Amino acid sequence: MKSFTLKNSIRKITGSAAILLIVFLLTGCREKAEKVTGTDTAMGTMIQQTIYVQGNVNVKERKLTDSVMDEIWRLEEETLSWRIDSSAVSQINQSAGSEEGAEIPEDLAGILDQVWDVSRKSGGALDVTIGDVVRLWKIDDWVNTSASSPDAVFTIPDTDEVMSALKHTGYEKVTFQGNKIFLPEMMTLDLGAVGKGIACDRVAAYLEKREEVTGAVISVGGSILTLGSKPDGSLWNVGIVHPRKNGEYIATLELEGGWFVSTSGDYERFAEADGVRYHHIIDPGDGYPAGSGVVSVTILSRDGMMSDALSTACFVLGVDKGLALAEDMGAEALIISSTGDSYMTEGMKCFLK
Ligand code: AMP
Ligand code: MG
Repeated sequence: MKSFTLKNSIRKITGSAAILLIVFLLTGCREKAEKVTGTDTAMGTMIQQTIYVQGNVNVKERKLTDSVMDEIWRLEEETLSWRIDSSAVSQINQSAGSEEGAEIPEDLAGILDQVWDVSRKSGGALDVTIGDVVRLWKIDDWVNTSASSPDAVFTIPDTDEVMSALKHTGYEKVTFQGNKIFLPEMMTLDLGAVGKGIACDRVAAYLEKREEVTGAVISVGGSILTLGSKPDGSLWNVGIVHPRKNGEYIATLELEGGWFVSTSGDYERFAEADGVRYHHIIDPGDGYPAGSGVVSVTILSRDGMMSDALSTACFVLGVDKGLALAEDMGAEALIISSTGDSYMTEGMKCFLK
């Protein structure tokens, strides 16, 4: 009787040890994810990467962050840049006024579809045909300077110049036929309002294919993507820059992987003259920096391009129309007015820390 109990106990002990061993093996082969970081520049802005990888040492050695940068540089060079002659956008611009028009590469076709949809729904607040006006203001050369500083590149254009540049704009003047686009003479596209969001979409798609990647948070200027999860299972924290206090955040969003956040602010790129701040978000209605009474718009969406397109459009529209547009497009918005007040869509509240 006694030996039976002993045998039973031994069986129990070996049974438990086996379970423990299985649990150990399962957890033991799941090596803790390792953090890889990188900071670089592309698209005239800073790219910051935090990626968690697991298992595949080769990937870490080949520097995953470098291959992410290659994706962004390729997008800029081959598709979006208006400066590089061979890019798709430059080719389209060079075709302006021609009877042949220009072919839209496959990767750009879906993007232009979505952009034109936002242009229509925002009543033209987003208008990527605004290239000539952006060049006139020399927005790409501003380094947040004032007209009185010795190395200033900023001069306020004459009203006549603004009026004449505006004549070459207007998304509704563009025609699409099959895979071709036809711009009227002198019109130039500028995809600056959506480029960073598109880059986030590209990077997310690229990292999703990498099995070793367990999570990532990557910012391309004012656009940020979250992917997967953190090793400790906690949510990603995405800070929204304080529009008036350098280096501070005005709010933090707590997000699972799979979100895109874009902020458009009058503090990102501006020049000052006679105490007036001229920022980089233009009202396509009059060709001047939008004076809609807001200083920052943050959009949360499941789509990077859409978050970026809407952040610009909602900035131009101001608080009421901006919130309505975001809701109409199924996105969440947080808008800071020039008086410092916050306005947001109902759904945005759930994501605020
Ligand atoms: P974002 O910082 O995303 O709001 O984009 C601003 C950039 O988009 C500017 O630097 C311009 O190149 C371009 N842009 C400015 N205003 C507009 C507008 N109303 N619609 C489309 N693009 C714009
Ligand atoms: Mg934008």
